Amino acid sequence: MNFCEGCNLAWEGEKCPKCGRKKLRAVNEEDFCLVAQVERTFGDHLKADLENEDIECVLMPYGTGVKSKFALPLENYLLYVRYKNLDHVRQIVKDANV
Ligand SMILES: [Zn+2]
Repeated sequence: MNFCEGCNLAWEGEKCPKCGRKKLRAVNEEDFCLVAQVERTFGDHLKADLENEDIECVLMPYGTGVKSKFALPLENYLLYVRYKNLDHVRQIVKDANV
């Protein structure tokens, strides 16, 4: 599995599907990888659940640009976890069907 440092994306191919960067390096267990975009309340709950399991995660507010300009609530997070937890957390998100 390869890793794009620009996008924090674990990817099988040689070229990042998001930014098109080539020569990706091999991913390592501790790299934070993008899991999915999640809804804000789901993200907050998930973070608490993962912390109970001793799994680190990072939530990045998503869509801060236009929405904050119009004073709308920020609805989404981009969810990142370490590569070693990626499959596990992906499954949780999938099961939750968000
Ligand atoms: Zn990339």
